[in-house]
Amino acid sequence: MHQLMQHTPLRIGRIIDHAARFHPNRPVISRRPDDGLCETSWWVIRARALHVAQALAAMGLGRGDVVGVMGWNTDRMLELWYGVPGAGAVLHTLNPRLFDDQLVYIINHAGDRLLFVDTDLLPIVERIWPRLETVEQVIVLTDAERMPETPLPARDYEGMVLEQDGDFDWVAGDETDACGICYTSGTTGNPKGVVYTHRSNTLHAMTMITPDMLGLRAADRVMPVVPLFHANGWSIGYAAPMTGASMVLPGRDLSPAALYELLEMGVTVTAAVPTIWLMLLAHLDKAGLRLSSLKRVVIGGSSCPRAVIERFQDHYGVQVLHAWGMTEMSPVGTICSFKPEIEAMAPEARLDIQETVGHPPFGVDLRITDDEGEPLPWDGQTQGRLWARGASVVERYLHDEAAASDPAGWFDTGDVATMDPHGYVRITDRSKDIIKSGGEWISSIELENAALAHPDVAEAAAVGMPHEKWGERPVLVVVPRAEAPPEPATLLEVLARRFAQWQLPDDIVFVSEIPHTATGKISKLQLRQQLAGMGYV
Ligand code: ADP
Repeated sequence: MHQLMQHTPLRIGRIIDHAARFHPNRPVISRRPDDGLCETSWWVIRARALHVAQALAAMGLGRGDVVGVMGWNTDRMLELWYGVPGAGAVLHTLNPRLFDDQLVYIINHAGDRLLFVDTDLLPIVERIWPRLETVEQVIVLTDAERMPETPLPARDYEGMVLEQDGDFDWVAGDETDACGICYTSGTTGNPKGVVYTHRSNTLHAMTMITPDMLGLRAADRVMPVVPLFHANGWSIGYAAPMTGASMVLPGRDLSPAALYELLEMGVTVTAAVPTIWLMLLAHLDKAGLRLSSLKRVVIGGSSCPRAVIERFQDHYGVQVLHAWGMTEMSPVGTICSFKPEIEAMAPEARLDIQETVGHPPFGVDLRITDDEGEPLPWDGQTQGRLWARGASVVERYLHDEAAASDPAGWFDTGDVATMDPHGYVRITDRSKDIIKSGGEWISSIELENAALAHPDVAEAAAVGMPHEKWGERPVLVVVPRAEAPPEPATLLEVLARRFAQWQLPDDIVFVSEIPHTATGKISKLQLRQQLAGMGYV
């Protein structure tokens, strides 16, 4: 029998339509870099996004055209999230912290025709402008009054929006049309473009709002500190309006004091990488502040130290949701919420579980294998390559001939993990960063987290350095918290609580700074070069 249900293409315009229709006046609070704190609503965001789509259509932009945006988390960014795909075009979010060469590469590679940019980021676009091959015009995210002087063919966003009458409808299309593009940060080789579809974004957001994931409701107020330009903004720009939740968008200033001020505006759920929370907790501890409304904090992007989980939960009464994902997965793959079997455990054992990144939702399938692709047991011990598949997982990178996943849909995440009998995943390393000593694998992430348990360690990175006999041996690089570094012997003692003797680092090197990538992760590539320069080869 033929299907007799309506075929409704899963296009993201429907998300903002829903929010504007059923939650029209829910506050969306935003800190714009050009004019400070302001309050808007889902109804207004949708109306203005329609103006954006209409303006793009008037400029001759539509189906398949790529439009770039370099901006912070603001209401205007959300308007572009819906307005650009609403015109049939594809929104390419740009990370302003990338090196100029990488920005030039990805803008040219994606073929951006138009660039939206926040006022404070305009100098970056001016600097790289002579090398951009496809961009025709720049729209600065401000009004005519605040429009900075620029030699570029540019105009102000507010003028562009207000010139339109809003008598427009989302451009119709298929749910499998391209909707957005995010590039991976390219720690190895050139960045790679991941092209999300309307369907993959809608399905992923539907997954994200479920109780064992973000568990979002209309009663929540969500603040994504994670930039919307990075890794599909962890999908929060779709998930929040889908539930009608209120939002707070922090703009450019992510200092602990600025974030605290916003968190106290009734935020119930927030999300960012561990570094942000380490800084916030230090600020709260020092000033003796409390968090009066926050219920859940999503922490991912890199491994979350146990001390952060403990402090949030035990001292501030905020539940930590440790999450794992990647740009290629839209991006969330797992979240560490408690299944009843875990809920029943003693507090310390539950904390052990929270160091894992949790379990996948419906829609994400995972497996671990050895190097030959043979499945490995879920015993919580055996480390293997982690593979993922699902409707929001990349099939092929932009302009690539070869597929990114195998014929059965399995995508090699490049991560190394264990899985336990409950299906909880522990990320032990990137496959290129795992330390291989005498044929055995030592997890650099676990060494780093263990080192952070020493009170005098501010940051730690473990890398495998070449060794004649063992192939590789671990070296631990440490940024001390105070001027006088901790005694190596006391540090080794702390590590020995969790590691066998042969897994302990051969050397501990103290440095004042560890190099980071544009997304704030430790750059092992640069660190290795640095160590080689110091004679560790
Ligand atoms: P990039 O930094 O390359 O742009 P992503 O931001 O997509 O890419 O990062 C994805 C990678 O980040 C994952 O493959 C994994 O190595 C790492 N990662 C993400 N979350 C976690 C986590 N909770 N614990 C450990 N590693 C993580």
